[in-house]
Amino acid sequence: MNFNLTKEQLLIQKMARDFAERYIEPVAEQIDRENKIPDEIIEGLAALDLFGIPFAEKYGGADGGYDGYVLAMEQIGKVSGGVAVTISAHSLALGAISTFGNEEQKVKYMTPGCQGQHILSFAFTEPGTGSDPKQITTTAVKDGDYYVLNGTKRFISNANFPGAIVIFARDNESGKITAFIVEKWTEGYTVSEPWDKIGQHGGQLLDVYLKDVKVPVENVLGGPGMGYPILQLGISFGKVGVSSTALGAILAAYEETLKYSKEKMHRDSSIAKFQAVQLRIADMAIKYEAARWLTYRFGCLANEVKDPRQFAKEAALTKTFVCETAVDAARVAMDIHGSYGLMNDYKVARIYRDAIIGPQIEGVSDMQKMIIAGVALSSY
Ligand SMILES: Cc1cc2nc3c(=O)[nH]c(=O)nc-3n(C[C@H](O)[C@H](O)[C@H](O)COP(=O)(O)OP(=O)(O)OC[C@H]3O[C@@H](n4cnc5c(N)ncnc54)[C@H](O)[C@@H]3O)c2cc1C
Repeated sequence: MNFNLTKEQLLIQKMARDFAERYIEPVAEQIDRENKIPDEIIEGLAALDLFGIPFAEKYGGADGGYDGYVLAMEQIGKVSGGVAVTISAHSLALGAISTFGNEEQKVKYMTPGCQGQHILSFAFTEPGTGSDPKQITTTAVKDGDYYVLNGTKRFISNANFPGAIVIFARDNESGKITAFIVEKWTEGYTVSEPWDKIGQHGGQLLDVYLKDVKVPVENVLGGPGMGYPILQLGISFGKVGVSSTALGAILAAYEETLKYSKEKMHRDSSIAKFQAVQLRIADMAIKYEAARWLTYRFGCLANEVKDPRQFAKEAALTKTFVCETAVDAARVAMDIHGSYGLMNDYKVARIYRDAIIGPQIEGVSDMQKMIIAGVALSSY
């Protein structure tokens, strides 16, 4: 057991912190207002390999492992939940291709993704289902060397960027779910206007409409009927990004609270003199440390998954704890700010709007608890 970060980990952390503070933080409020990440930020992230941190160099990645990914995402999540969720959803799709793709698929679809020329998507949610992928209704019908996909996918991150999208559809013949790598903007692929969501602005969410989209059979990911295991393991990896984004939100809420409690004066001294304020600060410090080490550990576990079920449990408990703690921390930070915390001019309001999203995505907290209990009970 060694709690010291390695030289390489410290470098990744510093590089992401420097970029986040120098380039993203100054435009974070603009990103929130306009719901768009400026092109220069995307280019800067790409130049620093931040779109491919955990993935192999031979596919354009930075070979920094999921431990390095966690450290970088914490820093990005601290300044902008919208930028972080964009990278997180992209890395979820890359992770699925990296784990289940064949060599040709990895070279073709991961390389431009890891290099940030493409921003990938992963589509399982539909108007009728989010938590229960067994209810997926998008259809895949085999026709010679192609499958023809029809259906609607809801709330899909990055769906309007160029690049690959991993789409889950039900194979008409077997009735099973298959994962397909589809090139966005292929004929029959269209998207809605972005949803007007509460937070994590800049990370755009769109519905995807598939109308007779032809996908070559060689673009089946992991084999026909393998969609469900791909979804389960893929999302476990995806929770690394969601958890580290939430960890960044906790750190941001904590630091804003420290700053404000020293700035806001009551009868000639700051509100930091009040014991009630101090107790809340202490509580945040405790929870940040707990969330931090849980998330860092999760990043290390993701580097070498031996048992997907146990990993699913670790993913579920980390994501639940860290995302729910982020909501609590943001709410406490708002309390300390009094009415100022309710004003969109203050960063804590944005942190709260960003944090409230975490418990709902990549599996709602209730479902995570069912995964945790299910694995715990069956292994006892
Ligand atoms: C910012 C953001 C980004 C997203 N990005 C993507 C993306 O890139 N790709 C994608 O596919 N989706 C994405 N989504 C969608 C998201 O993953 C789903 O909305 C989420 O999984 C929840 O599904 P749902 O909204 O249909 O909720 P439901 O499944 O309808 O759940 C609603 C509530 O019902 C309860 N519930 C449901 N089922 C059960 C059960 N079996 N047992 C007990 N309780 C249950 C839970 O309490 C839950 O809170 C994104 C959403 C957001 C907000």
